[in-house]
Amino acid sequence: MEHVSGLRCRECGRSYPAQALHVCDFCFGPLEVVYDYERIAASVSREAIARGPRSIWRYHDLLPVDDVVPVDLGAGFTPLTRADRLAAELGLGELYIKNDTVNPTGSFKDRVVSVALTKARQLGFKVAACASTGNLANAVAAHAARAGMASVVLIPEDLEQAKVTMTAVYGGVVVAVRGSYDDVNRLCAELASEHPLWAFVNVNIRTYYAEGSKTLAFEIAEQLGWSAPDHVVVPVASGSQLTKVAKGFEELGLVGLLPEVPRVRVSGAQAAGCAPVATAFAEGTDAIRPVRPSTIAKSLAIGNPADGWYALQAVRQSGGAFAAVSDEEILEGIKLLARTEGIFTETAGGVTIAALAALAARGVIRSDERVVVLVTGHGLKTVEALAGACGPSATIDPTLQSFERSVIDEAGSLIPGEEHVE
Ligand SMILES: *Cc1c(COP(=O)(O)O)cnc(C)c1O
Ligand SMILES: [Zn+2]
Repeated sequence: MEHVSGLRCRECGRSYPAQALHVCDFCFGPLEVVYDYERIAASVSREAIARGPRSIWRYHDLLPVDDVVPVDLGAGFTPLTRADRLAAELGLGELYIKNDTVNPTGSFKDRVVSVALTKARQLGFKVAACASTGNLANAVAAHAARAGMASVVLIPEDLEQAKVTMTAVYGGVVVAVRGSYDDVNRLCAELASEHPLWAFVNVNIRTYYAEGSKTLAFEIAEQLGWSAPDHVVVPVASGSQLTKVAKGFEELGLVGLLPEVPRVRVSGAQAAGCAPVATAFAEGTDAIRPVRPSTIAKSLAIGNPADGWYALQAVRQSGGAFAAVSDEEILEGIKLLARTEGIFTETAGGVTIAALAALAARGVIRSDERVVVLVTGHGLKTVEALAGACGPSATIDPTLQSFERSVIDEAGSLIPGEEHVE
């Protein structure tokens, strides 16, 4: 891997080879992939990327794998959709939705898992494993099936039905744990040392896994005609995605795909029922106090976020902010996005849209900014969150009279222009 120089401890800076390592032997700090940007700059070009596959793999020069066949279900290169109607409702200007609901298993996790399992397979692992709040489980089980690997996925037992079914259908081992995600994650850390031949994508392969999130920044810049937005709004669970989106924009400047390192403000979105990073931001402290999550946004319910501190620094350094939104606002956010733009997102996307609205109302996000919001998961994954909130406009007998009385008379105001039809 000529374009990867190795791994480096984010805390003490010690160097390691690009193997299945994730923590520093000396200080237990997390490791990060180090690239040779000069070498990449000499070979990478916008034209070559444009000729590449319509997936994250068009950016393989900036991903930590060799010239191997990737474990690929087609993750990435998702639409960047101009959202004028949503912008008008929120008093914003140039607004885009990065629609990651259309990924192969319906969430942004397909990006990170495609990278993680490609690397894991290259390192010789035969078993893919993870601790998951749901979407990671879906993506690991599906990509393991695609790669011909076995999978062992651990989830909290109270997950949404769709996420359980969508994990189990791929035929791997699915273990429901009586406990929170943080309990599951702790168990996986223990399992990872008991089973060193299993590739836990978010434990011993995490260093590589995390790099997949950079592709969000790469795609956004390419889809904006190779320019950067002024402001991005990113949901925060462990904080990995936000940290790596910020890094992705920086790398585009470092390798010359953008003329310079762009100044992109990065803001974070959390549910009020699980907002350890947003709280630290609001209190102006560096200390992230773990919380016990209680929110309908289960995919973001990490009470002790591994990359929380890094996400906090990335937001502060970029001049962004955090918003923490209530479960009620999350449901409003889901419906607002669906009603204005025709995109149905899960609760995590509701968090991001509600945070966008809150930050716009606070004046943090301004109408003169070009803004991109990351909508990271599909609404069919969390339909139970909307139970009682979305249903038929009317229930009728199969007669014209019943339709006229119940629909035209009572719900007719929902059909614009109806009064002009004779
Ligand atoms: C996991 C997840 C996130 C955030 O991931 P982190 O990198 O852990 O912060 C955002 N949205 C959805 C839908 C997710 O599943
Ligand atoms: Zn170290």
